[in-house]
Amino acid sequence: MKNKMISVLLFAALSLSFAQTEAKSDNFSQVQLKQIEQLKQQALKSDLAWNLVESLTTEVGPRMPGTVGDKAGVEWAVKKFNALGFDKVWTEPVTFPKWIRNFESAAIISPSPQKLHITALGNSISTPKNGVQAQVIEFETLAELENASQRAVKGKIVFINYRMNRDRDGNGYGPAVQARNRGAVVAAQKGAVGYVMRSVSTAHHRFAHTGGSHYKEGVTKIVSSAISNADADQLHRLIALGKPVTINVNVQTKSMGEGTSYNVIGEFTGSEFPEEYVLIGGHLDSWDLGTGALDDGAGVAITMAAAKLAAKTKPKRSIRVVLFAAEEFGLWGAKAYVKKHEKELSNIVAAAESDFGADVIWGMESNVHASVLPVVRDIATMMKSLDVEHIGSNSAGGGPDLIPFRPFKIPVFKLAQDGTDYFNLHHTADDTLDKIDPKKLRQNVATYAVFSYMAANAKTRLVGKNN
Ligand SMILES: [Zn+2]
Repeated sequence: MKNKMISVLLFAALSLSFAQTEAKSDNFSQVQLKQIEQLKQQALKSDLAWNLVESLTTEVGPRMPGTVGDKAGVEWAVKKFNALGFDKVWTEPVTFPKWIRNFESAAIISPSPQKLHITALGNSISTPKNGVQAQVIEFETLAELENASQRAVKGKIVFINYRMNRDRDGNGYGPAVQARNRGAVVAAQKGAVGYVMRSVSTAHHRFAHTGGSHYKEGVTKIVSSAISNADADQLHRLIALGKPVTINVNVQTKSMGEGTSYNVIGEFTGSEFPEEYVLIGGHLDSWDLGTGALDDGAGVAITMAAAKLAAKTKPKRSIRVVLFAAEEFGLWGAKAYVKKHEKELSNIVAAAESDFGADVIWGMESNVHASVLPVVRDIATMMKSLDVEHIGSNSAGGGPDLIPFRPFKIPVFKLAQDGTDYFNLHHTADDTLDKIDPKKLRQNVATYAVFSYMAANAKTRLVGKNN
């Protein structure tokens, strides 16, 4: 009996000392570490992010840059920031080339007449009123088209049938998106009269995925469009039978000159170093086909909610949520932010953008000066119980809106969401609220809240690789 008692006591003492060593940190006090634990629990029970994304996607809906929906989105964000009690709320103007779609349809004309599910790619010109009709020539990749002869392509509609890889990291997107960005230009340079691509997508459904595309000065503009994966398979099978296949593509769009929108910014002011701030956020705009729930209503909601929770204990540094404008048309809001704040970007102690859907965060990666890696390790320790692992490479790129910040080498973090299924729905009419799992959303909020709190309160200020 006595032995058992001693071993129980010994065990208790050991566990206690183990718990103490594990939670020990040079950068955070015991009180702060306790607050972080409480913050996690609060976030995992909070429906704030869900309520925000539900409101945004329902009461505002699609938010394509420069549209009535976009304007309503800006007003929505200002109102919500104020209602949530952010200390400072403001907007900054952003300009971009405005574009809208009016109509799109496509069909196989011969040898087997049938409709195709198509979408215009962003920035595409219109076809003539009755569409453009021609024989299709298929390529597996953009590189294959680049190597094709002018003679083979001239007068035809180019079809690139590139199949995107599914990956947790979304690594398949980069290679696939080349054909969306430049396909119409390369096709036109070889004399094509139209451009259709397989969607940049991992889906098995009949929605076509839109997304930005570009023209090049001096190269004839031809229609730039994407068909659903199911339709791409159908077209491929028909072409493989060996007979010439003719399709009609009818896209009616309009370039509207310069449009204006606004970055919407909300900040909780730091108690000791108000100038220094943690930057988190997402982009407020979306494509027009869906309601922009995963892209990027979720990111907007996650970061607004995380800041609200993390700021409850009056952090030392400010926490700033930036909702970027016109991301989908080419990062216009992020570029405008960097331009306007260029001289004070060194005040950013950590930046992270949520723009990869709403699945769970599985990893945290930093991009900071080596001298502050102990702070990163502390953050990683506190994220462990949220099933977030530390990706140790210290070379995070951050979200798309952080790309224009790269030359300034600010401290950047990637809170990596599971993107396995993201490209099933991305940029489609099917990007709607029902695709968000409220439980996974809460795990995102908890992770962003821990990140924001710790970056705002660390004894050692986080600095980037330029220091
Ligand atoms: Zn996005």
